[in-house]
Amino acid sequence: MENIELKNLQQGHTYLISRYNTVSSAKILLVTEKAYNIRWNGGGETWELKEKVYDDFTLIEDISDFTVETEYKPSILDVKTKLVQCYICHGTGTVPEPNSTAGTKPCPYCLGAKMIPEVTEINRKQ
Ligand SMILES: [Zn+2]
Repeated sequence: MENIELKNLQQGHTYLISRYNTVSSAKILLVTEKAYNIRWNGGGETWELKEKVYDDFTLIEDISDFTVETEYKPSILDVKTKLVQCYICHGTGTVPEPNSTAGTKPCPYCLGAKMIPEVTEINRKQ
């Protein structure tokens, strides 16, 4: 069954397209007389003959309006910490271990360091 709208894919538009039971977003980079140059959301660009596109693909919707390029701002946290006495081993660096000959094992929380960092302040870096 031919999908009439597949014949009118617009250059620069991004579409949701179903092919082989897989839904992908596809940006139409170039439209020629016989083919479409398509960039797929999974990466990679392909040339697809229009005839094949009509046969193999199903157009779901034009999602150009949803894919407006937005400036990506990574969120960076500035975390201030201070070292405080480990509250698992109470600053000894070890915890009781009845099954060992020493009777203790390194503290699983501070790993024997006796001190642990405590977060005192978190700021979002701009
Ligand atoms: Zn500890």
